[in-house]
Amino acid sequence: MAGILSAIKLPEAGLSDVTVCEKADRVGGTWRENTYPGLSCDVPSHLYSYSFALWPDWSRRFAPGSEIEAYLERVAADHGVLERVRFGDAVARCELSGDCWRLTTASGHEDEADVVIAATGVLHHPRYPEIDGLESFGGKMFHSARWDHAATLDGARVGIIGTGSTAVQIVSAVVDRVARLSLFQRTAQWVMPQENPPYSEAERVEFHRHPEALEAVRQQQAEVFDVFSSAVVDADSAPLKLIERLCVANLEESVRDPVLRERLRPSYRPACKRLVISPDFYDAIQRPNAELVTDPIERIEPGGVRTDDGRLHELDVLVLATGFKVDAFMRPMEVVGRHGTTLEQAWDPRPVAYLSISIPDFPNFFMLNGPNGPVGNFSLIEVAELQLPYILQLVDLLASGRCRQVSATPRALEDFERRREEAARHTVWVTGCRSWYLDVRGLPAVWPWSFGHFRRMMEAPDLAAYELA
Ligand code: NAP
Repeated sequence: MAGILSAIKLPEAGLSDVTVCEKADRVGGTWRENTYPGLSCDVPSHLYSYSFALWPDWSRRFAPGSEIEAYLERVAADHGVLERVRFGDAVARCELSGDCWRLTTASGHEDEADVVIAATGVLHHPRYPEIDGLESFGGKMFHSARWDHAATLDGARVGIIGTGSTAVQIVSAVVDRVARLSLFQRTAQWVMPQENPPYSEAERVEFHRHPEALEAVRQQQAEVFDVFSSAVVDADSAPLKLIERLCVANLEESVRDPVLRERLRPSYRPACKRLVISPDFYDAIQRPNAELVTDPIERIEPGGVRTDDGRLHELDVLVLATGFKVDAFMRPMEVVGRHGTTLEQAWDPRPVAYLSISIPDFPNFFMLNGPNGPVGNFSLIEVAELQLPYILQLVDLLASGRCRQVSATPRALEDFERRREEAARHTVWVTGCRSWYLDVRGLPAVWPWSFGHFRRMMEAPDLAAYELA
């Protein structure tokens, strides 16, 4: 998504020599990698679209993943992106040499670039659970982001480990197909109810005829997200209290059995973990063939999952909806900056970047959706669209000859991190849960201010924060 954006916007800004390095054989990023049943984006589709390529034909408010993938492919084709992409070869190494970056791919191909933009995504590398006997499972087992479409679900006994946004979508999508569904819950999740109505033919015709109607829907959706982003960064805010009430009411009104209801009730505040949004998860988990398993998993055996009450949950298919290594970013790519500084060194013990974009000693190397930025319940397309013009202003300093290298100063990064940590202490994410938002220290690794603040920060770089060499 961010690579496509860059390949469109850089040439528009007069930078015509642009190559996109893509390790896969198609564009689409997360929407190419994830193909699990029920996949959709819980950011409304008109907001989860490029501002310059609004799409009147989204089928629903939250379109399915396949539609989003088709949209990205179409935008890439329509804007001449595909000719700029070198497919099927991962960048293995990226080393600063003088004022230019030397790139080496997995196949040994070499290239040079004045500027590198890492548009490598956040939730990319699957995290496999560390459970005894994992490899011994006798049926089909796979991570949610590596869905095995050869696995038969119809009439099968299916186990799902995890209760994040992914697992919840899979449960709702497959429960009526499978003989038995066992959902292994380590931690309960709050679920925000959200209907997903289709757009009628008349609405879509209206969007085609009147682009301003499309803009208006997008604007409306953006405003709701702005409220949400301000709510989660202030644990005492009124909108957050409203979200909490909606989640609690959803649980209490949707789950009939009081015992099941309590097992589904989290012990922390709604939105502490990344909020799960679903219109029908509670219905799905109450189906007669569904079981919520809360006894901890002891081990995996050839026949299924053994919980520590001694019970073997016999399974034909085991889905690991266990999330991602969220601190990897462009790694395992080796990046070597000034004075031989490696990214591993710069990011020890945790990934950091000034305004999520630049790292000291890595001049002319910028990130889209890098560390410490707004992630979670946001449109990452909107985030990247705000970051790119900011990066282009820095690139302009190089293009105009004002400097040959530009990177954030260590001081700017330190100040940013200090302010970020201070703000993070007021967010709902630190109110008593474990989540992928938290870093190795247990502090949020993400943007702790409102989205409005992010927008303002992306208007123009403060050059005092940069070393212009
Ligand atoms: P996740 O939120 O990180 O959830 C992983 C789940 O696996 C958690 O329930 C976790 O339990 C469980 N787990 C991990 N290791 C385990 C183990 N060893 N034993 C038992 N349970 C284990 O991952 P995700 O659901 O893939 O979602 C990641 C993010 O992707 C989301 O937060 C969201 O930002 C994005 N996403 C978005 C959408 C969308 O609609 N836009 C859909 C899917 C994903 P604990 O809670 O106890 O750690």
